[in-house]
Amino acid sequence: MSGHISFFESVSNYVDNAARYTDLPNGLLEQIKACNLVLRIRFPVRIGNDYEVIEAYRVQHSHHRLPTKGGIRYAESVDQDEVMALAALMSYKCALVDVPFGGAKGGIKINPARFTVEQLQSITRRYTTELIKKNFIGPGIDVPAPDYGTGPREMAWILDTYQAFRHGEIDSIGCVTGKPITQNGIRGRNEATGRGVFYGIRECMSHEEDMKKIGLTKGIEGKTMVVQGLGNVGSNTALISQREGGVKIIGVSEREGSIYDANGIDVEKLLLYRMEKGTIIGYPGSKHIGDPKAALEIECDILVPAALENQITVENAPRIKAKIIAEAANGPITADADPILLKNGSMILPDFYINAGGVTVSYFEWLKNLSHHRFGRLENRFQSQAFSNILKKVEDMTGKTISDRERYLLTRGGTEIELVNSGLEDTMITAYQQVRDTMLMNSKIPDVRTAAFVCALNKIASDYISMGIFP
Ligand code: NAD
Repeated sequence: MSGHISFFESVSNYVDNAARYTDLPNGLLEQIKACNLVLRIRFPVRIGNDYEVIEAYRVQHSHHRLPTKGGIRYAESVDQDEVMALAALMSYKCALVDVPFGGAKGGIKINPARFTVEQLQSITRRYTTELIKKNFIGPGIDVPAPDYGTGPREMAWILDTYQAFRHGEIDSIGCVTGKPITQNGIRGRNEATGRGVFYGIRECMSHEEDMKKIGLTKGIEGKTMVVQGLGNVGSNTALISQREGGVKIIGVSEREGSIYDANGIDVEKLLLYRMEKGTIIGYPGSKHIGDPKAALEIECDILVPAALENQITVENAPRIKAKIIAEAANGPITADADPILLKNGSMILPDFYINAGGVTVSYFEWLKNLSHHRFGRLENRFQSQAFSNILKKVEDMTGKTISDRERYLLTRGGTEIELVNSGLEDTMITAYQQVRDTMLMNSKIPDVRTAAFVCALNKIASDYISMGIFP
């Protein structure tokens, strides 16, 4: 919660602000902003010899495209307002990256660390049953995915429960994404959000004139990064930025505190260290600099808050010294802190753009599930043979031969992970270019977040208009 306004109100305020740069009629804007369906559930779960009443939600924000889509989070912070805000962000996110879904989100108000695996399984299965009862889940209705506190394991439980009730439904495997590979998941989904964060930052930093304005040189290589939260999104952003982008990770924070090393922290080794010791504190060469929020104030080129919402507030915003803030988490900057950061010269890459990699690859997984075959299975061998024939012709014409290794590289088809990553890369680059073009076309648009909302609003509005609902 930021000051007096809730998370959902703050998302709505951003939308109102962006709407000033569009010519959408007020009624249409109100429809776009409204949450269409809110399901609040209470159910009992047996814990030891007693029962605990669990509070849970599923919100479908917008039905302008179907199915609706969005993660399920397990966290004590979950309440109706948070789930509504996150569902709304999903609608804008899907529109921005041209993923043909409406936005949704789910949440169970629990701290998963308090429960055994068996208890988590029964909570997940009961929640899924409630969604089935209310027609809030299905490959053409509403498709959940992982979020904070959930992962492939929970998605496998959801699938199994759904299939038990919908036996024989041919597309049932598309009722949830982010599943384990062995359970009809897709390669690359687990790291997709972090990988998308990397592609988005890299694309943004490739524009020399934009970087000059914030005092940076062009290109991601050699730049310094600080990451808050080493979960799915944070650890993959850090690992991929380090390995593929040549970024130096100088600060990391987790629940137990923040660490700093000006010489760079090897994230792979840090993750192993945390697995062994249960903490990042004491990692060789690093300095313990304070609580989990301390890392946010480290002077760096790129700050990646990848834990939870409301981490940068009016209280700590004046002390943030990052040139680029990539909102890998949803809502890590409160609405009242945002102008402080912009005034201090930071560039903010908004959550619903920069963390869109997860839903993008979820879309690929859903497509794979509905088509009932692995990408490349039909065409790879055919294409490979066609490329071989061309190579043979070239060899005959030139009298030269190429090595077996070169032949293999030139003729093989793409593997699933290569196709997924290239689709993700293309999606993140294309969306950034659309946002940047929007800013270039209207110099009054003040920042990237507003421009991204303008793009998303125009796309959702054009769906409603083409449906004939609004003139
Ligand atoms: P996760 O549960 O895998 O990881 C979250 C990590 O943050 C955990 O390691 C946790 O210990 C740490 N953490 C919690 N409080 C902290 C604090 N105060 N300071 C530092 N670290 C803290 O969750 P995730 O899936 O990585 O999600 C993180 C954020 O990214 C959420 O806002 C989520 O909505 C968003 N997101 C996730 C996905 C996805 O595909 N998983 C997609 C889009 C957006």
